[in-house]
Amino acid sequence: MARIGWIGLGNMGNPMCLNLVKAGYDVTVWNRTKSKADNVIKEGASWADSPRKVAEKTDILFTMVADGTILNAVALVDDGYVAGLKAGKIVVDMSTVSVEESMKINSAVEECGCKMFRAPVTGSTALAQAGTLGILASGEREVYEKLLPIFEKMGNKQFYLGAAEEARVLKLAINTMIATTMQMEAEAVVLCEKAGLNVKQVTDVIADSAVGSSICKYKAATIAEGVYKPAFSVKLMMKDLDLALAAAKQYGVPMLSTSVTRQQLASASATGRAEKDFAILTQLVEEAAGYERM
Ligand code: NAP
Repeated sequence: MARIGWIGLGNMGNPMCLNLVKAGYDVTVWNRTKSKADNVIKEGASWADSPRKVAEKTDILFTMVADGTILNAVALVDDGYVAGLKAGKIVVDMSTVSVEESMKINSAVEECGCKMFRAPVTGSTALAQAGTLGILASGEREVYEKLLPIFEKMGNKQFYLGAAEEARVLKLAINTMIATTMQMEAEAVVLCEKAGLNVKQVTDVIADSAVGSSICKYKAATIAEGVYKPAFSVKLMMKDLDLALAAAKQYGVPMLSTSVTRQQLASASATGRAEKDFAILTQLVEEAAGYERM
């Protein structure tokens, strides 16, 4: 069995890595905040003191960090993982980053004689825990075949999309739909709330209706409870919409709904809610409508 390295144990990375440990893989981990590794170490993972040391101890290295700047920071500094790579290893990045950020890492990894693979994911933290994420994969087909048994421990839907950066573009495109869906639901829910309907019933019925996509189902309870503990933060969704809008500019695609939703998220961030779940869009519409929950 290949020795696995894992860098990034946040809301998504932690349960994904835990599934590999539980599946019996020999896993070495590093995370900026060491305490977040406690549960995976308890299940059998080993700790390394830097991304470089993780790379030295493993054959296949996974990264799952917040954004492209951080992806570069864990890779390209003195103690970054690139310094620990030896020819023949595989690096798999599962974070959501832009094509440009991905290509930069790709070059550094290939210069070491290693293969880079992109595998951003669709799904929530609950799906990460359940091992039922969707994995959008691009890179060499032969590398994909090697990685497939590992991907199957984290997701139950794998999509091979091409030999280069295809997965990055589709992941961003899907996130524009997730964000705009939450903005649409926010408006619909507040309309019903102001008209006197029960918010729990409203979110449940929406989840079960013709527009009840997976994201409406995952977020029904969050919106109804109005607590917005972060499964996916406003900050990260703003990052994704910025990357998608930059790609839209590059390819000449007008993305009206995405632009409006990005501005709503900016309002959430500017009013101290950047670390809340992005479903907080409902709270923003409530405020704009002068509606206060009892
Ligand atoms: P998160 O909970 O914020 O975790 C971010 C990770 O990046 C943590 O391991 C964090 O370390 C690390 N990090 C942040 N700043 C760092 C720095 N300066 N140096 C080193 N490490 C740093 O994010 P997440 O929700 O797990 O998301 C991870 C990726 O998956 C993102 O690209 C996101 O867009 C994507 N994604 C998220 C979801 C979701 O539902 N959450 C779904 C699909 C895809 P610390 O623990 O030390 O902070």
